[in-house]
Amino acid sequence: METSDKNYSEEHDLVIVGAGPAGLAAGLYAARDKQDVVLLEKLSPGGQVLTTDFVENYPGFPDGVSGFELMDRIRKQAERFGLNILSHEVQDIDSNGDVKHISLDSGAMRARSVVVATGAQPRKLGINGEGLLTGKGVSYCGTCDGPFYRDAVVGVIGGGDTAVQEAIFLTRFASRVYVIHRRDELRATKIIQERAFANEKIEFVWDTVPVSIEGRSGVEGLRIRNVKSGEESAINLEGVFVLVGTRPVTQFIKDSIDLDEQGFIKVDRRQETSVPGVFAAGDVTSVTPRQIAIAVGEGVTAVLNAENYLEDHKV
Ligand code: NAP
Repeated sequence: METSDKNYSEEHDLVIVGAGPAGLAAGLYAARDKQDVVLLEKLSPGGQVLTTDFVENYPGFPDGVSGFELMDRIRKQAERFGLNILSHEVQDIDSNGDVKHISLDSGAMRARSVVVATGAQPRKLGINGEGLLTGKGVSYCGTCDGPFYRDAVVGVIGGGDTAVQEAIFLTRFASRVYVIHRRDELRATKIIQERAFANEKIEFVWDTVPVSIEGRSGVEGLRIRNVKSGEESAINLEGVFVLVGTRPVTQFIKDSIDLDEQGFIKVDRRQETSVPGVFAAGDVTSVTPRQIAIAVGEGVTAVLNAENYLEDHKV
């Protein structure tokens, strides 16, 4: 849509896009600093953390905290300072010029500065059966769908923190959890690995990739291939959890802002992107490792530098 077709009557100094840890932390600071700020979120506030059963490495919670409760607390804290969270999907940001034009699912607005904190979404495998059986036994969130697999056999694809942590969670319900990993060594952190190795319901299938997911109206099995021997085999199971990392949510800005080769937004130490006045924070940036505490820190850094930018570019 051409910017001239839209009514950009609403204008704010600062628009934050995305209400995960980075966006909410940015919003909390901006609202407390009495900035003219709105936060846009297409779903409900919380982001990917909502799909995390239990968070035990976020400072300040010695007994751990559920992903939902942590995000609910940050949202409430931000709203206490008056943060206005609007339910909108951003379709396009035209960031040329001092004023940024933001097209929404309904309407449009202008902003003098933007913080992009849209996070990342689960990556797909792209194998036969995955699309057909998504929601019918293929899932991208163990915490969300685990309870459907009481006494069932399930498979988890991946060897990172998410895959191994979710595999442990799934043992609460499933009778057996196969973790199918393409190498013979996990990427997950040691403490999570140790818990998984000690869990009798988890069986690791090393050096193995999924080939296809079998079934018509529901998952019945998984064909796998050993990458060393080339040998193919099948596992009978009822659920496949695909947890092979994430891809950033940047489709609405990618033509205008520099991205890395995997599509994550490049930022400098001030969290500023290649476009002056546009900042990015959280899992959408190329900054690693990806942790909730780091996303919060990036959100705060982004918004404080956005405030400096606004001060330097007063109209
Ligand atoms: P990740 O660390 O990128 O791990 C992805 C896993 O999937 C890797 O083991 C990778 O194998 C495997 N994989 C990727 N593509 C594949 C394919 N096409 N077929 C089969 N396997 C494939 O992603 P993540 O586990 O979602 O974690 C994302 C970030 O969040 C990380 O920085 C992680 O540390 C962080 N995180 C932290 C916690 C925590 O602190 N408790 C919890 C969750 C996530 P290879 O190992 O061979 O590359």
